[in-house]
Amino acid sequence: MPQSFVYDVQPARVIFGHGTRARLPDEADRLGLSRLLVLSTSEQATLATDMQTQLGERAAGAFDGALMHTPVEVTGRALDVVRALDIDGVVSVGGGSTTGLGKAIALRTDLPQIVLPTTYAGSEMTPLLGETQDGLKTTRRSPKVLPEVVIYDVDLTLSLPAKMSATSAFNAMAHAVEALYAPDANPITSLMAEEGIRAIVDALPRVMHAGDDAGARSDLLYGAWLCACCLGATTMGLHHKLCHTLGGLFDLPHAQMHAIVLPYALKYNAMAIPEALTRLKRAMATDDPVLALHELVRRSDIPQALAGIGMPRDGVLRAVDQIMANPYRNPRVVERESLIRLIERAWSGGSA
Ligand code: NAD
Repeated sequence: MPQSFVYDVQPARVIFGHGTRARLPDEADRLGLSRLLVLSTSEQATLATDMQTQLGERAAGAFDGALMHTPVEVTGRALDVVRALDIDGVVSVGGGSTTGLGKAIALRTDLPQIVLPTTYAGSEMTPLLGETQDGLKTTRRSPKVLPEVVIYDVDLTLSLPAKMSATSAFNAMAHAVEALYAPDANPITSLMAEEGIRAIVDALPRVMHAGDDAGARSDLLYGAWLCACCLGATTMGLHHKLCHTLGGLFDLPHAQMHAIVLPYALKYNAMAIPEALTRLKRAMATDDPVLALHELVRRSDIPQALAGIGMPRDGVLRAVDQIMANPYRNPRVVERESLIRLIERAWSGGSA
């Protein structure tokens, strides 16, 4: 680890525990908010109604149109509601899609956000926002989109189905794995990354065994939170470049794609990241983190090949062309032939 470093602490108030959603009205009062809009997906509209009930007269309305990848048309419709109801803050209850909508509103209005995450994706701890317009996804980094308050209520994650829990946990772990070898890694992000990975590797099999195990769910959410902090504070490499490219080109499901690609991206980088590998071995209690990740994917009974989630066989070269045209910084130089082999193996689900 270098003796000098820069660490931008991302400001947010974090409340963690069981039943913590009951703190929502107090947090709204603390921020001086009295006309809140509750955001959700249509699938979680009932949960949004529960939050409105909790908020009482502080809730001015709800908008349940959040969608994956934050389409700007949806943001436009939500902004119409914000203006019509004279909203003074948003409450986002859900996964990364709902948090994304809250961030998109904050970017355009500076309204404060209170987020209650229900997956492990981690968007709530980052100044990043990805938006789509006419099928094109663009990502920006702005302190304006950072939520003011994040209320982690473990109980809200109990309903996340087993396979979604697994893919979402891999999505979280990918942030920490790449943070370990990021160009702007520092002792604090590395500590958070190692502990986040340790917590997830320990808790995920227990959650897969019993989704209602509140202790395991708590450990998993704790690990995901640490991994999210890493995503917010460091610059991601080849793994995230692969996922952004493949997701954009073939509209692949976000979290499943992260779970499949992670062991292959780690294998590619392994020769160039000795310090990160030492931490990974310690965190995962294994001599072979790549094999251990593969094994964890297999045991979680989630798709192991990009072919299985809709990537066309003839898409490999298109993806490679796009990545080579605009690569992210990565510890190992990204070479065309090696990249083709990486994506082909991830496509077929072969060994990394
Ligand atoms: P999601 O928010 O799209 O949720 C997937 C589905 O699961 C939705 O139908 C949702 O309503 C449902 N769901 C969520 N929590 C549930 C629960 N506890 N019980 C039952 N159903 C539940 O999925 P996601 O993986 O959390 O988010 C993906 C999106 O987040 C992508 O658009 C991705 O780009 C973005 N993301 C952004 C960042 C960032 O820092 N900007 C980080 C990670 C992910």
